[in-house]
Amino acid sequence: MSLRILVGVKRVIDYAVKIRVKPDKSGVITEGVKHSMNPFDEIAIEEAVRMKEKKIAKEIVAFSCGPAQCQETLRTALAMGADRGIHVEVAGPQFDTLQPLHISKMLAQLAKDEQIDLIIVGKQAIDDDCNQTAQMTAALLDWPQATSASKIEAKDGSLQVVREIDGGLETIKVKLPTVVSADLRLNEPRYATLPNIMKAKKKPIKKLTPKDLGVDVSPRIEVVTVEEPPVRLAGAKVENVDMMVEKLKALGHA
Ligand code: AMP
Repeated sequence: MSLRILVGVKRVIDYAVKIRVKPDKSGVITEGVKHSMNPFDEIAIEEAVRMKEKKIAKEIVAFSCGPAQCQETLRTALAMGADRGIHVEVAGPQFDTLQPLHISKMLAQLAKDEQIDLIIVGKQAIDDDCNQTAQMTAALLDWPQATSASKIEAKDGSLQVVREIDGGLETIKVKLPTVVSADLRLNEPRYATLPNIMKAKKKPIKKLTPKDLGVDVSPRIEVVTVEEPPVRLAGAKVENVDMMVEKLKALGHA
């Protein structure tokens, strides 16, 4: 097999950052906050790179949609082993209202333009937690989908994919071309080495607009309000079990 793989890499607020909501509750504060590649997308890139190392794939195209800084996310993907990048620039308020359907339409168009055999995206972006892009992309292309993949094996024009389902595993076979979404246990992504970071600087990144791909990015959903989770009340220490039972009774829990 000699697949051309398209991988979605989203620039998101770093998983270790404590998220703060804007005072007007219209969204979260992104200015001056550390951003990184969505962790599931690192896994998606890693899987594509392993497929290339096993000669199952011939080319890996990394795609990122968002502001200019997405080029850094793409450089990380290139340093991990992707061959080239595609940046669809969407910035400012337009990026704030970008939704998975827009991304899916871009991925679907790119799949046609770039003769892609396999699209790998993360199971979900950790900023919006939508878990929709893989599914909608597969629907738009009328391709089969294998979501939440924890193992992928390529066999004669098909992929055998182990999916993580509630309390167990499901193994399915999908014909190529197909869309796969990467789950946490699919692999452990590599760190880019310094020589590969240097090499990545020379790899090409094509810049496009949504219009180039025929995608209208007008919002279809209006975010009404974003709120922080309720603050946990301070706990109290008790000396022994009797005191704890007393306390629970007093609070009306027992
Ligand atoms: P979501 O459906 O928003 O949870 O995102 C699922 C996956 O779609 C992510 O893990 C990425 O692989 C891909 N994706 C979503 N948004 C973008 C974006 N702006 N640029 C590139 N890939 C994206």
